[in-house]
Amino acid sequence: MSFSFLNFLSTDIGIDLGTANSLIYVKGKGITVNEPSIIALEDSSDRVIAVGNAARQMMGRTHQEIHTIRPLKDGVIADFEATEIMIREMIKKANINRMMIGRIVVCVPSGVTEVEKRAVRDAAERSGARETMLVAEAMAAAIGVGLDIHEPVGNMVVDIGGGTSEIAVISLSGIVHHNSIRIAGDEMNQSIIQYFKKNYNLLIGEKTAEEIKCEVGSAFALEEELETTVKGRDLIDGIPKTITIGSSEIRDALDEAIMAIVDAVKLSLERTPPELASDILDRGIILTGGGALLRRLDERLRHETSMAVHVAEDPLTCVVRGCGRILDEPERFEKVLLKQRRGV
Ligand code: ADP
Ligand code: MG
Repeated sequence: MSFSFLNFLSTDIGIDLGTANSLIYVKGKGITVNEPSIIALEDSSDRVIAVGNAARQMMGRTHQEIHTIRPLKDGVIADFEATEIMIREMIKKANINRMMIGRIVVCVPSGVTEVEKRAVRDAAERSGARETMLVAEAMAAAIGVGLDIHEPVGNMVVDIGGGTSEIAVISLSGIVHHNSIRIAGDEMNQSIIQYFKKNYNLLIGEKTAEEIKCEVGSAFALEEELETTVKGRDLIDGIPKTITIGSSEIRDALDEAIMAIVDAVKLSLERTPPELASDILDRGIILTGGGALLRRLDERLRHETSMAVHVAEDPLTCVVRGCGRILDEPERFEKVLLKQRRGV
């Protein structure tokens, strides 16, 4: 069988290795995996018990012999081995024959080190990739949104994920300015947990905090404020308790995290070269990542920066769709691929 025939048969895939969610795009098929970046391992043997949704169900509910890991929790690869397991298992979920994998485009947070890049590349190669290409997450998000990143025009993309919020100014196929803070969706969940502890003596878990955020969370006053019920454990008498809470209280709880994101955006605007800043003024800021779904976050940023702010369509899938477009037209996007220094 000739090499070109093999190429014809092989499957190219794009992976968004997110701190909260991992997505896989299979060329010709679309997004086939979209699951939380979590694995559950058996303590004694480190055997993989569950990956993705099934592992998420186990979070906070494991017994002594099983533990769950989020390999990319804080936006860096905290656990190389766990990251490799996750890449391999997610590819299994995509249901492609390992022998038939051609190219893999993996996006990595823009600030990763050479060592982390090498680890991701090695992990992809051990999963069967014949060729691995890395792309910065913010760049993939911009491509996924459909921006023409090759133009000599400035675009600002703010991607709010689980572990990190990334701000990037992109022009002429490159990242002109980049800023990343470790305050994003996870930190918002933690703020909600702390709020209930401090104000209601109520202990709630991470999963509950996330549900509250998605149900009634907001970054700016709502026309009609919302309400939800919250179940937790009373810290004084230790008994489970239900309370009703309004969206304005949750807004207060989230304020510090949101202010940190606002400040980071302002700082990036200050540091953007003037010509590009004026482009951003014309075109507006684009929000991607799951955090972009927080109610009225766009309005809050508009209010604080006086810039136009747009929430991308389907913000949770922008990055993987960007990987997909790179796979569809690799020549066109050659310049955006991350180079690796030799010998690392
Ligand atoms: P990552 O790229 O780091 O994996 P994602 O872009 O998948 O992150 O976004 C995940 C984050 O988005 C999580 O912290 C999640 O709580 C948050 N999120 C998802 N939906 C909403 C929503 N409706 N409101 C607020 N935050 C949300
Ligand atoms: Mg992401």
